[in-house]
Amino acid sequence: MIINQLTIHEAHRLLETRQLSSVELTKACLERINQTEPRVRALVVITEELALRQAQKADQLIAEGDTHPLTGIPVIIKDNMCTKGIPTTCSSRMLENFVPPYDATVVEKLNGCGAVIMGKANMDEFAMGSSTEHSAFFPTHNPWDLTRVPGGSSGGSAVAVAAGETIYALGSDTGGSIRQPAGFCSVTGLKPTYGRVSRYGLVAFASSLDQIGPLTKDVADCAIVLNAIAGYDSRDSTSVPEQTPDYTQCLTADLNGLSIGVPKEYFVEGMQAEVETAMRAAINKLEELGARVEWEVSLPHTPYALAAYYIIAPSEAMANLARYDGVKYGFSYTDTDSMWEALEKTRQFGFGDEVKRRIMLGTYALSAGYYDAWYLKAQKVRTLIRQEFDQAFEKYDALVTPTSPTVPFKIGEKVDDPLQMYLSDVCTLPINIAGLPAISIPAGFADGLPIGMQIIGKPFGEETILKIAYAYEQATEWHKRRAGI
Ligand code: GLN
Repeated sequence: MIINQLTIHEAHRLLETRQLSSVELTKACLERINQTEPRVRALVVITEELALRQAQKADQLIAEGDTHPLTGIPVIIKDNMCTKGIPTTCSSRMLENFVPPYDATVVEKLNGCGAVIMGKANMDEFAMGSSTEHSAFFPTHNPWDLTRVPGGSSGGSAVAVAAGETIYALGSDTGGSIRQPAGFCSVTGLKPTYGRVSRYGLVAFASSLDQIGPLTKDVADCAIVLNAIAGYDSRDSTSVPEQTPDYTQCLTADLNGLSIGVPKEYFVEGMQAEVETAMRAAINKLEELGARVEWEVSLPHTPYALAAYYIIAPSEAMANLARYDGVKYGFSYTDTDSMWEALEKTRQFGFGDEVKRRIMLGTYALSAGYYDAWYLKAQKVRTLIRQEFDQAFEKYDALVTPTSPTVPFKIGEKVDDPLQMYLSDVCTLPINIAGLPAISIPAGFADGLPIGMQIIGKPFGEETILKIAYAYEQATEWHKRRAGI
């Protein structure tokens, strides 16, 4: 048994029966971090002391009869979620020295479950990117091939799980940032329905699209973490006051009675042949498991999603990033007597190129004279896309697509070509535009590189997609492969 490679439910069983202590589990992960970090660079902060303290406390709680499935289990948090007393950098120079005075709701909830926080994960700066190369600090490497990207923006979180540095991680997803890195690293990643998980304490990128979700080693773990983080929060006005079910209850291996649609627009031009082959095989498997599959579903507005996203997300981002003015917090350029120069230089040195690009795009799209042509038009497209999904869900319980059109690409390959980089989220961003839940699970390999399958659900239909993902996982072995580093 390799302790750091355990899933949450496996580790929980061992903790509960006292065959393992949280301190042992935590030390195994810390040791693994020491081994692999020089090669993968998934983490921006390692909280060794805190982790060991929390592990000791968890062991005490377990001794006193605490049976929560997350008690004593190590977790890594993407570095855009506020952690009290622990740096929260968003992998940006702007927040390099920022230490929040409060915890994000999700962090508070995990701490309430007796979690062990191991550190903070590297990401594309302010979550803008698809490869984790836009981190202001260093790129993260894919454990399946160190010359390749792990996806992004939650690349650090996905790698930390895939490399066995942690038992699970949290990521955030604005246009694919949980699912695409999950696919690229062969782990499980879920983006919940918009409003399902509180965004309080998540550093905002595009507020109408952002959601926090789990990155785990299997589907059962994903359900356990979702149970812990989901639910209404009065501090997030967009969180939805809906009852949250127990997501572990829907995990059965039988898909009889479920209908699944395969939208043809997601099998895009330029898609890698191996990805398409793997998808067809995976969907056949779902059929074998009892689902009724409709292969030729059409969602004709899909091709406009990318353009709409790159108007809406930058527009919201430019408003959200206006707060970094060097006055209230974060980096501040002070070597001048001029207020305007201070403001300008703070942003010039504090933000990286991709962030500046988004701010310029958003400012342009919202400016007088262009608003109707760009922002308003994009919002109309958003409505059409959402309606199209609503119609599809009158007929199907879920939709299945590839998570990405390709396997992980080489580090450096797309970093100077924003459009190519943006295209790697072409299958994931429509889901954020419509606010739907979607999960990515391991569904094959091409020359040793991971392929992910995306399962999309109705609003608040997390149970259905978890069920489908679980059934597929139980019938396949992909999720059991571990990167050989
Ligand atoms: N890659 C997309 C972007 O750069 C999505 C990022 C995300 O989901 N945070 O905007």
